Amino acid sequence: MTISHLNEIKELIGKGATFYVSHSGGKDSQAMYAELFSIVPRDQLIVVHADLGEVEWEDVQDHIIANIRHPLNVVRAPKTLFEMVRHRANTRPDVPSFPSSAQRQCTSDLKRNPIYKFIRNDMKQRGALLAVNCMGLRASESAARAKKGTFKINATLSKAGRTVHEYLPIHHYSDAEVFATIAAAGQKPFWAYAAGNKRLSCVFCIMGCDNDLQNGARHRPVLYQQYLALECETGWTMFNGQSLRDRVERRVA
Ligand code: SF4
Repeated sequence: MTISHLNEIKELIGKGATFYVSHSGGKDSQAMYAELFSIVPRDQLIVVHADLGEVEWEDVQDHIIANIRHPLNVVRAPKTLFEMVRHRANTRPDVPSFPSSAQRQCTSDLKRNPIYKFIRNDMKQRGALLAVNCMGLRASESAARAKKGTFKINATLSKAGRTVHEYLPIHHYSDAEVFATIAAAGQKPFWAYAAGNKRLSCVFCIMGCDNDLQNGARHRPVLYQQYLALECETGWTMFNGQSLRDRVERRVA
């Protein structure tokens, strides 16, 4: 497979652009890094991970570090997912406390905003005015992701003399092509895939499929109980009228 917009990317490399790779530890991030590593000069590539704290897979950062040949920059939001849910329950008890696909405050507050802050600061420190924000989103993941533009100006980051492009290099890759890219790099995906997970990020994602939620409950039973306790505490279920327990026990019942 070939990454998208290869000619434009080569042109930006020639202009000295800095490439920021958002790495979750998941297979798409891993394949994206492998592809970009093969064409972007080492000093123009920066890897950044948004640490989700207690709700991410425990050894995922070790996995990233073992499979990149750059330093890993780790950023954190000033609040955790649990704090975000509790805050919402306290300030807006009339609306669901948990984020949803329509209200993905978790992605913006816990991942995107800390990474944007890092990019702004890092560009400032380097005196860089041209950058590319690279993400491993793929069309086959969802209808919403299929519609995303794969190469465009990031209007939020392109300010104060900076130009930052938003780039989805492997948007067109299939699952098989992602796994093949990782294998071709001589690497393996994070262990949770072999244990049955289809996707990776938060162990219990608000958009996770039953399979991944059940796998999460098997491997992280304490965290599972913490989510159930948070549902009781807030009076809201994690999935629009459905408890995490319902989703986990669905096929067992
Ligand atoms: S993985 Fe799911 S729950 Fe976690 S931040 Fe992303 S959308 Fe939210």
